[in-house]
Amino acid sequence: MTALLEVEDLRVAYGKIEAVKGISFSVEAGQVVTLIGTNGAGKTTTLRTLSGLLEPLAGHIKFDGKPLKNVPAHKIVALGMAHSPEGRHIFPRMTIEDNLRLGAYLRDDKAGIEKDIQRAYDLFPILGERRKQAAGTLSGGEQQMLAMGRALMSQPKLLMLDEPSMGLSPIMMQKIMATISELKAQGTTILLVEQNAQAALSLADQGHVMEIGKIVLSGTGQDLLHDESVRKAYLGED
Ligand code: ATP
Repeated sequence: MTALLEVEDLRVAYGKIEAVKGISFSVEAGQVVTLIGTNGAGKTTTLRTLSGLLEPLAGHIKFDGKPLKNVPAHKIVALGMAHSPEGRHIFPRMTIEDNLRLGAYLRDDKAGIEKDIQRAYDLFPILGERRKQAAGTLSGGEQQMLAMGRALMSQPKLLMLDEPSMGLSPIMMQKIMATISELKAQGTTILLVEQNAQAALSLADQGHVMEIGKIVLSGTGQDLLHDESVRKAYLGED
């Protein structure tokens, strides 16, 4: 079986600074794969490159059987990759519902779009309750829900989430993680970037630890969760 996403020897630089220094990993359909690592490890750069927002210096990216060389970002969305970015980037003056609709901008199946908006409200009831309010009135965690809901509106084959737990209270973080588990149970394929290693590894099939632009350790979520070096470096154990 070929993977939904295959990344081979990917290198990305900002000018002379190489932020991603030759990483390889893959994501099988139906899996949750996580990239963990501290600030500046290159996780966000990796996701932005996969989305077509940054151009790689070298390497190969294959998505759903197609090489993504010189494919612009909007075409990558059309191929089935959705990105919920770090910092959310919702549109604060637009209503919650209009933010969701924006995620479906490439679709013209009206009935399907309505159904998926309903699905987002089922997943995140607070968004439904406040559908007509400006998105900027939502709390940080609720805005994260909206960003995830909006990404799902493109019916992605691969959902990429960049630090969904960032800045959230422990309760809100648990809620977001529970939703990711639910999406996984529904068969959504997810590439999850997280600094919260415990939460991410607990629900991931596969995990990769990134340090200064490289993958230094890979394994199943459970293996990494129990790995001594991971526990020391990322889970706060002595
Ligand atoms: P974080 O969790 O803080 O986002 P990260 O693992 O996602 O960390 P990146 O944001 O990908 O890391 O950053 C990787 C490296 O690239 C860092 O050294 C960072 O300073 C650098 N970098 C990121 N964006 C830029 C940019 N626009 N210009 C120059 N250097 C950048």
